[in-house]
Amino acid sequence: MPDPEVVIVGAGPGGLAAALHLGRAGINTLLVDQATFPRDKVCGDGISGWSVDILKKLNPGIIDELTLQPYSLDSWGVRFVAPNLKSIDIPYKPKNHERPDQPAGFIIKRSHFDNFLWEKVKQLGVVTSIEGLRIENFTYCGDKIMLSDRSGKTKITTKLAIIADGAQSVLAKKLNGTVLSAEKKHHMAGIRAYFKGVQDNHAKNYIEMHFLKRLLPGYFWIFPLPNDQANVGIGIRSDKVSRHKINLRELLDEVIRSNNHLNKRFVKAEKITPAQGFGLPLGSKKRMLSGRNMMKVGDAAGLIDPFTGEGIGNAMASGLYAAQHAIDCIQKDDFSKNTMLAYDHLVYHKLGHELRLSTTLQNLLHFPWLFNLVVNKAGKNDQLKDLISSMFVDPNIKSRLKNPLFYLKLLFG
Ligand SMILES: Cc1cc2nc3c(=O)[nH]c(=O)nc-3n(C[C@H](O)[C@H](O)[C@H](O)COP(=O)(O)OP(=O)(O)OC[C@H]3O[C@@H](n4cnc5c(N)ncnc54)[C@H](O)[C@@H]3O)c2cc1C
Repeated sequence: MPDPEVVIVGAGPGGLAAALHLGRAGINTLLVDQATFPRDKVCGDGISGWSVDILKKLNPGIIDELTLQPYSLDSWGVRFVAPNLKSIDIPYKPKNHERPDQPAGFIIKRSHFDNFLWEKVKQLGVVTSIEGLRIENFTYCGDKIMLSDRSGKTKITTKLAIIADGAQSVLAKKLNGTVLSAEKKHHMAGIRAYFKGVQDNHAKNYIEMHFLKRLLPGYFWIFPLPNDQANVGIGIRSDKVSRHKINLRELLDEVIRSNNHLNKRFVKAEKITPAQGFGLPLGSKKRMLSGRNMMKVGDAAGLIDPFTGEGIGNAMASGLYAAQHAIDCIQKDDFSKNTMLAYDHLVYHKLGHELRLSTTLQNLLHFPWLFNLVVNKAGKNDQLKDLISSMFVDPNIKSRLKNPLFYLKLLFG
């Protein structure tokens, strides 16, 4: 059998987006994952408007299909709860939303979402897949790269590897010599549990982010799911978790127990899975994203939004850009380090502005009174609410939050 033109390691949203694009372009691709699908992935399960935009680019029919799935819940906005416990409801304002019947976002357990995309890849009939194979090493072999498992018995040779093995990426560590979780100021620790019977969720399934003072920079969330279930969790930046020796499992229970606005909603609720944790490598730091014969995507590249903790959209976007660049490289038969660098530029050109803005917003969380101020004023001012709503889709509007004048104007009406 000839070597695959591209090998993708990891079938999360990043690897699957790359596989969908390469498969549609007819490129002989191999997709490998250590797990057998369907598999769980610790996540908040929120599929934002940005993720929906990328899904439409990958396959416009996907959104209609997802809407019909019993495991998927349409979501129309986000509720922010400020440190002073005042809240604002911000509807999503999707760009180019020609179909108002289509939801702006979804909440879907990752076991379902990733499996749905994996099935879409299989249906293309171009991408070969191997499940239950963990790749742990790479070496160069002439003008190719050879990927192998721990024993070295399984070897796969290709001209191009897309590294999509997530937050604990062994291949990114080997390429860059650093572990993503060691960069604690650019990393978040997250924990989630599934609950049944949480009351008083938003009628239009808004996701809820509670920026409680003791969790900053970080937050507690409730994301509703079908069948009266909800994904409930906490994410806090890892430097704070280490400094204060925080036990996230204990904290999750304590936050629900000790906050009146939350505990009354959990009176009839039951935790149906134990709390599980996982890391979130944040995009608050610029990193090398490629090397000779390889590109990193998604969490392996550290592209999670530092303010919201959202990573699915950027994982799929980087998967798409990597696949587009892969097609260029194949046409030119050039996989050199320099040529691969064009992928780094593309990713930071497309996502860098947004990541920088979100880093600024995360830094503003050191001043909880500013957050309180914005939420207080927005509660009384529809124009401001509209402005915040647009910030989710328009970085130029979001950048106003960086400007001190914005807060002065708010203070003085
Ligand atoms: C607690 C928590 C809550 C979150 N909530 C949200 C949210 O609500 N919305 C959102 O947008 N983002 C959220 N995120 C972030 C989101 O989960 C990630 O950004 C996203 O999963 C990244 O996708 P990926 O494809 O890069 O990696 P992953 O989804 O992690 O996929 C990596 C894949 O690689 C496989 N793999 C790993 N190592 C190997 C190996 N050596 N060989 C072969 N296969 C391998 C794994 O089995 C997996 O299938 C959350 C993260 C956490 C931890």
